[in-house]
Amino acid sequence: MKVLVVVAHPDDEVLGCGGTIAKYSKNGHKVNIVIVSEGLTSRDNERNLNKRLLQLNSLKKQSKEASQILGANSIEFLSLPDNRLDSLDLIEIVKKIEKIVFKFKPQEIFTHHYGDLNIDHRIVHQAVMTAARPHSADFVKKIITFENPSSTEFQSLSFNSYFKPNYFQDIENFLPLKVKALKKYKSEIRQWPHSRSTKFLEILAKYRGSISGLKLAEAFFIERFIN
Ligand SMILES: [Zn+2]
Repeated sequence: MKVLVVVAHPDDEVLGCGGTIAKYSKNGHKVNIVIVSEGLTSRDNERNLNKRLLQLNSLKKQSKEASQILGANSIEFLSLPDNRLDSLDLIEIVKKIEKIVFKFKPQEIFTHHYGDLNIDHRIVHQAVMTAARPHSADFVKKIITFENPSSTEFQSLSFNSYFKPNYFQDIENFLPLKVKALKKYKSEIRQWPHSRSTKFLEILAKYRGSISGLKLAEAFFIERFIN
């Protein structure tokens, strides 16, 4: 099976579905990762690629190393403006993702949930849903969205589209690889009690496991499942 993971920022693929990427890869599936925005540049008041060039190169290296730990087949960078995807026309992002979707022809796509607080996550969600729409990308049979520590739980609980998982993946044997992959993201990882920490990943996997009858799990929402 071919699986495409489309995320907004470097590290989202690990936080959201790192255990599942590792499990799918181990089971012989071909997992390709696409990172839509470059990361980091939103930490400055204005986007300045030159100022962040060395750090951005190092971040790409971190992403590649993390993807290798997870066993992913490939990783691709679209390098669009970090946390400023709302400065672009949605169609521009859709076309870039559409091109990858039609070239790779995945049966399953993993991406962000619309309920996240982060604007890039919501835009990537919409772009993926559009790029893989019915009557166009008919080979895509499943679209699955994940929770993203430090964005999903930051959203207001009164938000209508708050993440409510209905699909759980047993990652009992794969959490160590997820944690190891996150550790590669030295510039993104935070110390506990921040939710972008290895300890939070472990606690979340235990919690999602407990509520689904597993020891350790990743939680998802099935957006579309065609059989
Ligand atoms: Zn993100």
